[in-house]
Amino acid sequence: MTTATLTFDNGPTPAVTDGVLDVLSAFGLRAVFFVIGKKASTDEGRRLVRRALAEGHRVGAHTWNHAVPFGRLDDVSVRAELDDTAALLAELGGEPDLFRPYGVGGVIDDRLMSRFGEQLLRERKATCVLWNSLPGDWRDEGGWMQVALDDMATRDWSVVVLHDVAGAALRHLRTFLATLTSAGVAFSQQTPDDCTPLRGGVPTPSHFLLGVD
Ligand SMILES: [Zn+2]
Repeated sequence: MTTATLTFDNGPTPAVTDGVLDVLSAFGLRAVFFVIGKKASTDEGRRLVRRALAEGHRVGAHTWNHAVPFGRLDDVSVRAELDDTAALLAELGGEPDLFRPYGVGGVIDDRLMSRFGEQLLRERKATCVLWNSLPGDWRDEGGWMQVALDDMATRDWSVVVLHDVAGAALRHLRTFLATLTSAGVAFSQQTPDDCTPLRGGVPTPSHFLLGVD
């Protein structure tokens, strides 16, 4: 465990994302937020995205509705999920072409992406970011931290999925970050090729994870 990229999905969430940003700020750490367009489009959602950006975090897209994975969605809807969220991020100053697909339960399988969605991402020279550590904060608010630490110990660079939603990562985030910091972990806002199947629209060796080859 030498490097960690902390990612926060499924926000922004009123009364939660501010807390996550406060903790990150206290440690001087910068993360990557993959926001749900529908949530980011509200007044409070926009404020939270702008705050995250102002504090040096990266903000990318995590679909508009986060309801049906692209591998099970019709092409017209896939296009709208990508375009609507990208337009909002462009308006807010985020990264419209930084995208994380919605995986049901965080599982990387054939539901994750459609051939059409993958083509659109390539056309837009998008960077598609997956993950290699999924400690399950949303289903185990008390236990995810130890799961994450054990899992991160198995590899050099972990891309960790946490969630800025109610009842998830926030409660133990301070302890988690204190543990990582004292262990000498380096924090990055970049992602390794094995978690980035498309980088700038170009397939990497992990492209097969999208299940469209
Ligand atoms: Zn999600």
